Amino acid sequence: IPGPRGNTLAKYGGRHTVTVMPGDGIGPEMIGHIRTLMKYCNAPVNFEEVQMTSTPYDGDMEEVIYAIERNGVGIKGNIETKFDDPAFSSRNVELRRRLDLWANVLHCVTIPTVPSRHKDIDIVLIRENTEGEYSGLEHESIPGVVESIKIVTQDKIERVARFAYEYAVLNGRKKVTTVHKANIQKLGDGLFLQIAQEMAKEYPSIEFDQMIVDNACMQMVSRPQQFDVMLMPNLYGNIISNIACGLVGGPGLVSGMNMGDVHAVFEPGTRNTGTGLAGKDIANPTAFLRAGIDMLRYLGCHKHANVISDALWQTLTEQGIHTSDIGGSAKTSEVVEATLRNMERMLPRYQ
Ligand code: ADP
Ligand code: MG
Repeated sequence: IPGPRGNTLAKYGGRHTVTVMPGDGIGPEMIGHIRTLMKYCNAPVNFEEVQMTSTPYDGDMEEVIYAIERNGVGIKGNIETKFDDPAFSSRNVELRRRLDLWANVLHCVTIPTVPSRHKDIDIVLIRENTEGEYSGLEHESIPGVVESIKIVTQDKIERVARFAYEYAVLNGRKKVTTVHKANIQKLGDGLFLQIAQEMAKEYPSIEFDQMIVDNACMQMVSRPQQFDVMLMPNLYGNIISNIACGLVGGPGLVSGMNMGDVHAVFEPGTRNTGTGLAGKDIANPTAFLRAGIDMLRYLGCHKHANVISDALWQTLTEQGIHTSDIGGSAKTSEVVEATLRNMERMLPRYQ
């Protein structure tokens, strides 16, 4: 992960403290599974749990923000956003904006045993995470006429574009494709494209490519293997990320990282609550478990990250233990149990 950060990580007695926000839906039970696996391999992580759900109480957002500022790291479930109430804006968006978590990163990779239309997908999706259509500025000028303001700024485009190119270099990637609609949004998306194109000159080892968002959607579903790293403004990034997650098996598989200059928050990539699955022991825990693995890597706990990651991979591939969303009949707890047994066998090799 590129960029200056990590200096604010809370560490006492050799253990990290991370802020946990279980959120709504399946969040709380999934966080429970993450804790079980981390404890099993003695990951040096303490959890400080703070509540933030779709039912706000006075000061809960401040409490969450203080806790993440103190610890430097958070892991979260999604918070339900009611969209029939204009006064209720997304608390997930507010959190990202207040902590200035400006880059969203998803890594979508084909899992060999998971049924999917396409094979060999390996795409890193990097999305501007704070502005654009998510500026939250809307008003009804006169009855029946609404203005929704999309704001883009040079600084914020530059930092996320820089992140994408640096990420590509650090991770041995070959190409960064910038997604835009500069043919219609000539100024806003034009600026995004222009900055990405200019900056590409500083990275001669990385191929520059650009694609209009509608074509990018079509290319994603017809020939996704052509993509390597994708750099996207906020809303297009949201949509394309969900297409990518769908292509590799749906909302239960992919994790997402929200990175700022000094703080990071980890969550499932498609940001679903899975409210309909809560309490039934049927949700796919992979996306959440991978968020936990990402967090361990961020904290520098590579051995712990590797053992959980390899054990989970074995569960999903060699053992083919799948929840119903990816064509199996296993319960959530069976995936977790199998992963624990795999860890038990592997652990001596990871000491
Ligand atoms: P809801 O909150 O109505 O359950 P979401 O928007 O949270 O819906 O999720 C979209 C869809 O993805 C739903 O069908 C949900 O059941 C499914 N889904 C979300 N998370 C998971 C998961 N971890 N495992 C399996 N299916 C999931
Ligand atoms: Mg939901």
